[in-house]
This record gives sequence, structure tokens and C-alpha cells, in this order.
Amino acid sequence: MKFESINPFTGEKIAEYDKLDEVQLLEKLADSETAFPLWKRKSFSQKAELFQNLASILEERKEQLAELISLEMGKLREEAEAEILKCALVCRFYAENAASFLQAKEVTNELGFNYIHYDAIGGILAIMPWNFPFWQVFRFSSPALMAGNVVLLKHAPNVFGCAQMIEQLFEEAGFEKGVFQSLIVDVEEVETIMEHDHVQGVALTGSEKAGASVAMLAGKNIKRSVLELGGSDPFIVMADANIDTAVKVAVQSRMSNAGQACINAKRFLVAQEVYDEFVRKAKAIIEKLKVGNPLLADTNFSCLARIDLAENLERQLEESLEEGAKLEIGGRRDGTSFEPTLLSNVKDNMTVFREETFGPLMCVAQFDTKERALQIANASEYGLGASVWTSDKQTAMFFAQNIETGNVFINNLVKSDPRFPFGGVKRSGYGRELAEEGIKEFVNIKRIFVP
Ligand code: NDP
Repeated sequence: MKFESINPFTGEKIAEYDKLDEVQLLEKLADSETAFPLWKRKSFSQKAELFQNLASILEERKEQLAELISLEMGKLREEAEAEILKCALVCRFYAENAASFLQAKEVTNELGFNYIHYDAIGGILAIMPWNFPFWQVFRFSSPALMAGNVVLLKHAPNVFGCAQMIEQLFEEAGFEKGVFQSLIVDVEEVETIMEHDHVQGVALTGSEKAGASVAMLAGKNIKRSVLELGGSDPFIVMADANIDTAVKVAVQSRMSNAGQACINAKRFLVAQEVYDEFVRKAKAIIEKLKVGNPLLADTNFSCLARIDLAENLERQLEESLEEGAKLEIGGRRDGTSFEPTLLSNVKDNMTVFREETFGPLMCVAQFDTKERALQIANASEYGLGASVWTSDKQTAMFFAQNIETGNVFINNLVKSDPRFPFGGVKRSGYGRELAEEGIKEFVNIKRIFVP
């Protein structure tokens, strides 16, 4: 069986990849198992040196790697280059900080000497999506590997070119065979991989459905799991906010990556006093977006990564129009191309508020009191991020304390940063990536007692 990588903007086939057969998959698992004890015993400084090499390669080759991302999933070139640089950043961050995060602790008391060690646990399966085909992989792999684990990647089939390239980059940076491997398999093989004794955990970024299925497999096999699933982040604008800045960031937050990010703002809640102004100004910005080929420098909006994603977004749009939403601008789809779209008069029971919208659909609802805004914000099944716009500190604190999400940003765009933990609550998943919290997800916290 072969997987095809298709350029979503042109529809042309880029490459084909052969699926691993059973014997080849078992060989890869054996290579991972062989690599683990050797990798685990390396010092932090030895591992850090390799990650610094990897970061330098990413920085040097950012144009070429960004082009591969754009070709495989339609990301704007500028956004793709920023993605590559963020991967270099996370490599360097863990190269510099893993040793202190995982420093053994000593507790001496009346019992004697106690030591707490953070040991690697084995092979960790990374099931990753196509929307940030490099970043999602590096965000997970850098801490997992610096902790001494080895990684097996099952990437999304539409970005297998990126997956193979990442494996090659690890090799070029000097990582030994088996430490990081890309597996060209489909979801049916995930069960076999999860059952293997060497594999001790799984991290998945993707849809709720995929997350639930992988969590069941992890539970059945008593293996650890971290799930980073969808989001339907609220973006709350109070009447006392700086509206011009709020609108600019709102459109950016909805339209970046063609709306295909878990932390794109998806439900825009605007105080009734400034609602008309917000909608008018958002429309004016959206009107000016230049739609086109992601490889061209003057394009600022391109296409979705797959036709089925565009079709699903079209269904969500149509249902919401039938439910009473008003189309302000956009709304047309042609293949993977979906116009940047603005909907007003949105109510919290409409499809676009109930489901995650993974594309350029900006949906704006109004509210009268901050309690009502909070109620709508928390009515979602998801709980990943939230952005709140106000000039009043108490109002900001009210939302920060009461919103049920893993991240709250005041007067700013929600974004991840290697220095801070990232993850969600409710159906957005569990566990954390990045920072000290992220590197401790896949370790054995071992107590050693000496009387
Ligand atoms: P999926 O969740 O299906 O895909 C993400 C990854 O999970 C892929 O590698 C996929 O492999 C894998 N996967 C899917 N089902 C299973 C399973 N049962 N067992 C193991 N692995 C599995 O997302 P889609 O690409 O289909 O996108 C659908 C929707 O998911 C989007 O519209 C969006 O709402 C959400 N999504 C959220 C993301 C986020 O960042 N939170 C990222 C991507 C999607 P394969 O492709 O081979 O099935």
C-alpha cells in the first residue's frame, strides 16, 4: 500500500510513500528498543550537544524546510519559516534546561537519605497532525528525548514528507540510529505499536475522536498518555478594551494557519456596546487579505490542508446560516480553497459555536454582562485557551480565575512558548507539554532510600 502526498493548493501529487509491512515495523521497534539503553545513559550535556546541532541545522535550512511544509499542507511561507525557527528554539530550550528540570532531589530526614530521580521509561509513540507538521513533532520530541526516552513518530499521511525529513535531520545532527524514527503506517498499526513492551507511552495531538481511541488503547495496555486535542477558544472583548488592537489580533488569531490551529480563537464574544464597531472593523481587515499561492511572499491567506476539512467547514457554515447567523463576508468554497469568512449574529447554540471550526470562519456573538460572557465561554466542551480584552484589571482577573481553560491571555494572542506549560482541560485533553511540566510527563519518578 502507498500513501500519497498531495499539494493542497495545486492538487498535484508531490510524492508517494510505501507503507511499512509487518516485518519492517517490527524491525523499527527493535531498533528503537536497542537504542534506548544507550541513549538513556548519555549525559545531559551529550544529548544537549546533539540538540544544539539540530537547532543549527533547522536555522540554516529554514527556507527549504518551510517550502516543504507549504507544499504539503498549504501553510504560508512566512508562517512556515516561523514554525521552523520555533522548532530550533524548543531544541535549544531543552538542551539548556533539561538537566535542571530533571535534577535529582535529595531529602534527608529521620529515616535516612532519600533521593528522587527522574528516569526515562522507554519508547514513546508520538501521533501527530498535519497542521504544524514540524512544530508538533519537536514540541513533543525535544523534552521526551532530553529525558532519555526514544521516540517513534506516526505522523499524518498528508505530511509524510515532513516526517521523513525530520528523521533525516535527527540523523544529520548526529543522533544514533533508532533514537528518533518516523513510521510510515496508518492507524491500524497503532494498536500493535501500543502493545509492544518497549513502548511505554503515547502523546497524541489531533481530534477528540482520535484522542478517545488512543486513550482507550493506552488504558488497555496500562501505558501513559498525553492528549492535546481540539479547542474552541473564546475571544472576549469588553466595551472598555482597545477595540482597534483587539480587532486586529482577533482576525490574526482566527485566520493564521488558515484557521487550522487548536489555539486559533474560534468564538468571538463582544460586548453589545462595541459589537457593531467590532464587526465592521473585522470585515474591513478581512476584505484586504490577499488570497493565493502560499509560496508567494505577498499572499496573506491560502488554502486548507485537505478537501474533507474544507467540506466539513462548509457544512458548519451552512448549518449556522440556516440557524440564523448572518454572512458578512466570504463563505465560498472551491476545492481546498475557502474564503476568509465572517459571521455575525451568532448564538451560542449554533453549530459553529458547539463544534470546533478548523478553518477561516470568524463567528461573532454579542453579550450584555460579563457574567453572561463567562457563561458562554464556559459552555464549550473544550477548554484549551482564552483571550480576554479589557482595560480593567478586576475584569481581567474575573475571567482569568473563572474561565475553564489551560491558558488565559489578557489583551494578547494565545500562543505556546517553550518556557510555559501548554495543554487543556475538558475535551481539549489532559497532560501538559513544554516547560518543566512537559518533560516530567514521560519519566519514572523514582524514590531511592538509603537508611
Ligand atoms: P485526526 O485527529 O484524525 O488526525 C491527527 C492524527 O491522529 C493523525 O496522525 C491521524 O492519523 C491520527 N489518528 C486519527 N485517528 C486515530 C486513531 N483512531 N488511532 C490512532 N491515531 C489516529 O485529525 P484530522 O486530520 O482528521 O482532522 C479532523 C479534525 O480534528 C480537524 O478538523 C480539527 O477539528 C481536529 N484537529 C485538531 C488538531 C489540534 O491541533 N488540536 C490537529 C488536527 C486536527 P491518520 O491521519 O492516519 O488517521
